[in-house]
Amino acid sequence: MSTVVADGVPAKIPPVASPVDEDPVKIASNISYHAHYSPHFSPFKFEPEQAFYATAESVRDRLIQQWNETYFHYHKLDPKQTYYLSMEYLQGRALTNAIGNLNVQGGYADALNKLGHELEEVVEQEKDAALGNGGLGRLASCFLDSMATLNLPAWGYGLRYRYGLFKQRIGKDGQEESAEDWLEKFSPWEIVRHDIVFPIRFFGQVEVQPNGARKWVGGEVLQALAYDVPIPGYKTKNTNSLRLWEAKAVSEDINLFEFNDGQYETAAILHSRAQQICAVLYPGDATENGKLLRLKQQFFLCSASLQDIILRFKERKVGKGTRSWSEFPDKVAVQLNDTHPTLAIPELMRLLMDDEELGWDEAWEVTTKTIAYTNHTVLPEALEKWSQAVMWKLLPRHMEIIQEIDKRFIEMVKSTSPDLEHKLSSLCILDNNPQKPVVRMANLCVVSSHSVNGVAQLHSDILKAELFVDYVSIWPTKFQNKTNGITPRRWLKFCSPELSQIITKWLKTDEWVTNLDLLVNLRKFADNEELQAEWKSAKLANKKRLAQYILRVTGVDIDPNSLFDIQVKRIHEYKRQLLNILGVIYKYKKLKEMSDEERKNTTPRTVMIGGKAFATYTNAKRIVKLVNDVGAVVNTDPQVNNYLKVVFVPNYNVSVAEMLIPGSELSQHISTAGMEASGTSNMKFALNGCLIIGTLDGANVEIREEIGEQNFFLFGATADQVPKLRTEREKGLFKADPRFEEAKKFIRSGAFGSYDYNPLLDSLEGDTGYGRGDYFLVGHDFPGYMEAQTKVDEAYKDSKRWTKMSILSTAGSGKFSSDRTISQYAKEIWNIKDCPVP
Ligand SMILES: *Cc1c(COP(=O)(O)O)cnc(C)c1O
Repeated sequence: MSTVVADGVPAKIPPVASPVDEDPVKIASNISYHAHYSPHFSPFKFEPEQAFYATAESVRDRLIQQWNETYFHYHKLDPKQTYYLSMEYLQGRALTNAIGNLNVQGGYADALNKLGHELEEVVEQEKDAALGNGGLGRLASCFLDSMATLNLPAWGYGLRYRYGLFKQRIGKDGQEESAEDWLEKFSPWEIVRHDIVFPIRFFGQVEVQPNGARKWVGGEVLQALAYDVPIPGYKTKNTNSLRLWEAKAVSEDINLFEFNDGQYETAAILHSRAQQICAVLYPGDATENGKLLRLKQQFFLCSASLQDIILRFKERKVGKGTRSWSEFPDKVAVQLNDTHPTLAIPELMRLLMDDEELGWDEAWEVTTKTIAYTNHTVLPEALEKWSQAVMWKLLPRHMEIIQEIDKRFIEMVKSTSPDLEHKLSSLCILDNNPQKPVVRMANLCVVSSHSVNGVAQLHSDILKAELFVDYVSIWPTKFQNKTNGITPRRWLKFCSPELSQIITKWLKTDEWVTNLDLLVNLRKFADNEELQAEWKSAKLANKKRLAQYILRVTGVDIDPNSLFDIQVKRIHEYKRQLLNILGVIYKYKKLKEMSDEERKNTTPRTVMIGGKAFATYTNAKRIVKLVNDVGAVVNTDPQVNNYLKVVFVPNYNVSVAEMLIPGSELSQHISTAGMEASGTSNMKFALNGCLIIGTLDGANVEIREEIGEQNFFLFGATADQVPKLRTEREKGLFKADPRFEEAKKFIRSGAFGSYDYNPLLDSLEGDTGYGRGDYFLVGHDFPGYMEAQTKVDEAYKDSKRWTKMSILSTAGSGKFSSDRTISQYAKEIWNIKDCPVP
């Protein structure tokens, strides 16, 4: 503990900030300046938390400077710019990333030392910005990093949720959720823009003007207020923006008379209604109110972002004469991250027609040329459908527009593709089924955008062959693939400095950080004993760090010399954490049956599983409970616990991932084939030299191609076999493997406590008529999975071979940089060029 007043320091703190010095003494002075003059804390304390906020503000000064330069540069050059619309961003912590991208780690570490702190400890004070749920949100954040690093004029738009995704704790009944109050103190990274405010309307009605034009009036009006988060590129001046909207009541609407009259509640209602919009990510949508709130959130994001984009388009025409609306798609690309921001389509149409007075054809041309859509799932239950009644109530003008889009689409099909006429009922946008009329958002996206992409080759192929097959015959060139990627800055350079240094040393350059394909040059050293020794020791250091973390958060002592086997991702039946834990249970039972001698010949393993289960997803929560119960038994069984440990890692988020992934040796990506669109954690693990046990699903297919099939532990049914296997399962034709039966029976016997696991286990029975009857084919894939695990154990015994495979895994990961993904979007969808700030 130290204070800024010690040794008469306050006298030395200059009342001016000098933001951009490289000299640690000057940086220390700037940090002290913020600790002393920023009005967030009393100035007499300078513990790690205060040090974090002061350091972050010091770094922010630099970012703001670059951010302004970038903004003016784009404004002056007026290039085409991309706007990425996403309901989720999973940014994680920002400090390490910011000083790493600014290339000032050394200066800041030294400066903090002078102030009595360690950078590592200070960094840990930051709360994750958890404005997302899982892979889709993290993808958006990796994309922002790559867009800035590639000097692309590209911004993200999202919502500033007051509470991000819930915080997960494990109690005696399993997962417990509590609010993640990431803004409890404040976020040093956001800059409120009080001058950037747009009105957002809900409800109301459509009024016909004397000239026949239509106008949306009445209802409720809220305000969207902008908060900017600077997004620095790696070793470049370009600093882009993530603009997050917050909802506010219009202050004139607050009725002061009522307030003075003591009617505080009516006055407060407007405030509280506004606050609901940005309260939480994915509010429960079991009730009509919950559904309405989600729709409001989506519209709020779309309307605010488009008003902002249009305003910028108009502003930038200054000095260039009048600009026609047909130029809009030459200046603006809008990417929809899944269907959540679909309302951008009718909202852009509305703004162009009702406010800017364009005709339908002109507005439609602009809209379709501007909007592009990324699909992230083929799971039918995840394809968004909104009740037409709710939509008419909340967005009456948009429903008119959607109706018109649908009508014109139907006419077009009838006249140009009459052979598809019998398919129109599934192709059109409005599903007018009288029981439950809905708007199909994916259909609206496909019909209204110029590009539709999947996120891994297999997924894009499935989209073209199944979900969107008939659209492909109408628009053969609209469909593309853009295999996901991850940023190598956060996911290797910053999270595993040890391994990064080794890579730089052997490649004799650190250019791989921005040109990840260079990693292939590691291949020729894969057998080199010196590299192998260094590689192993870096891995071991990361494993030790992880072991300490696990001890701290779970109390379980794990052995860094055992095989670290990790599965972390949202808990979902299709991701099959249940397959993993059933395998563990079987293995545990066999270990118990072995003699001491036999046990000594096994490969000691630590299995770590982590992830959040959606609060209302009962089976996912049962899986969390089971993993914890198995851990409690196995870890305290003295016969076995030198050979097997099972740990549930609580509260999985980006920071936890940054700790786990560098320390992992085997990771599990074992979804039912055809169900994981891409996955991105598979890429993070592979890049960190962690071997994969997995199915031929999502990006696993491409990862295996890149790193070589001999370096991938493959098992399981393929996507094209799945439908037939499901049918067989339903007909009772499936013969379960005795090992699978044994594992389930062991749980039912009460070996892991008294919790009732029967409903969970029943979901694995194909012929009991329960639910969909092992829809995810855990039973079918179980034997193949166990055999692949046996191969893992054998491979791990040969340390040289394992290390070689690990090196080859990193060496083959070049393709999975989000820099590659974003370059492809820029070229093949957005048609934007880089615009580096000099
Ligand atoms: C990468 C990442 C994900 C995505 O994981 P998948 O295994 O690809 O589903 C989810 N959550 C966090 C915190 C991540 O970092």
